[in-house]
Amino acid sequence: MSRDTPDSDKAVHYLDHAASTPVRPVALEAMLPYLTTQYGNPSGAHRLARTANKAIDESRELMADLLGAQPGEVVFTGGGTEADNLAVFGTLTARPGRAVCSAVEHHAVIEPVESLGGSVIPVDHDGRIRFEALEPLLDDDVSLVSIMLANNETGMIQSLDVIAGMVREHAPQALLHTDAVQAFSWLDVADLGQVADLVSVSAHKFGGPQGVGALVVRNSAALAARAVGGGQERGRRSGTQNVAGIVAMAAAAQEMVNSRDVEVKRIRALRDRLLDGILCTVPGSLETGPRDLKTANIAHLCFEDIESESLLFLLEKADIYASAAASCSSGAMEPSHVLAAMGLSRQLGFGSLRLSLGYTTSEADIDAVLAVLPDAVKRLRDSEENRG
Ligand code: PLP
Repeated sequence: MSRDTPDSDKAVHYLDHAASTPVRPVALEAMLPYLTTQYGNPSGAHRLARTANKAIDESRELMADLLGAQPGEVVFTGGGTEADNLAVFGTLTARPGRAVCSAVEHHAVIEPVESLGGSVIPVDHDGRIRFEALEPLLDDDVSLVSIMLANNETGMIQSLDVIAGMVREHAPQALLHTDAVQAFSWLDVADLGQVADLVSVSAHKFGGPQGVGALVVRNSAALAARAVGGGQERGRRSGTQNVAGIVAMAAAAQEMVNSRDVEVKRIRALRDRLLDGILCTVPGSLETGPRDLKTANIAHLCFEDIESESLLFLLEKADIYASAAASCSSGAMEPSHVLAAMGLSRQLGFGSLRLSLGYTTSEADIDAVLAVLPDAVKRLRDSEENRG
């Protein structure tokens, strides 16, 4: 769907849902009372406080149900980064040892692991973990293995059940964490069952507001708090909870899960039409990794002989909003660590484009990209040739 931006009347074709997806109306409606009339602090004792506390309890129950967990296993956080940091630092503080993660993790995992001197596992050309590289790293000294369920740049899904089997066999003391921030909208995370001990999600990826998320901590998992003080979240994350954000996150998650099966089919068909249309009209374009191993919403491509920053500029001029890599690293002069880990050349890495679809995406958005992109790539290549 073409959406109106708040600061203009112009309709835009928003294809950056993996960065942030618009807040669902149902989430906005659910959170409003807690920003207006129901402003109590959930740790207090009076009626307004009890109302806020009850809203958190109900949201916790709902999130637990949707994530295949018990309510007491859900720790509300200030987003995906905090959930990932808590999983890595919290586990390693509770049980000092070694942390292991993949080379394609989000920075919110890879930086904590590297800062603790942990090991980084290489991936293959598709961005999937090399099992033969993981196995020798697993031993009794490993406290945590963190492998994302789906990648934020390419959408590539990891075989978490196989990885869990290897971890249980070769590093039985270790906890398995999965960053499911990108996966939750497209895969049944509740299905992970007992596969992962720790699971991170973030509301703004599925139609809740930015700055709120959750970490599922299986009951037996030892985790030291990062934020201490008031003892909220059973002492695992002190700080007054973001009541409105938590309520909105639960409402968004419920709507997302209820519509997920239908949406996955609809979005996959749109994504495939988009990719096929680009691949057959733009010479020198390449899809990164096999589509059937990816989440339904991400179209990730590399174009020879162009720089994605210039392409994004031309797309935005046509009111198409996309990104070149993880949004946080967009604009950086280094190609993404994910593409580098997959062995893509720097030249191709500089020409990467992520078009990510979401619940508001329509046929018109796909038509708009297909009408603009081939010409934009051609113009950039022509101007490069003229300059050369
Ligand atoms: N993990 C993944 C896979 C992500 O895609 C993101 C956000 O892009 C994060 C973690 C960080 O989440 P947040 O933006 O809520 O801090």
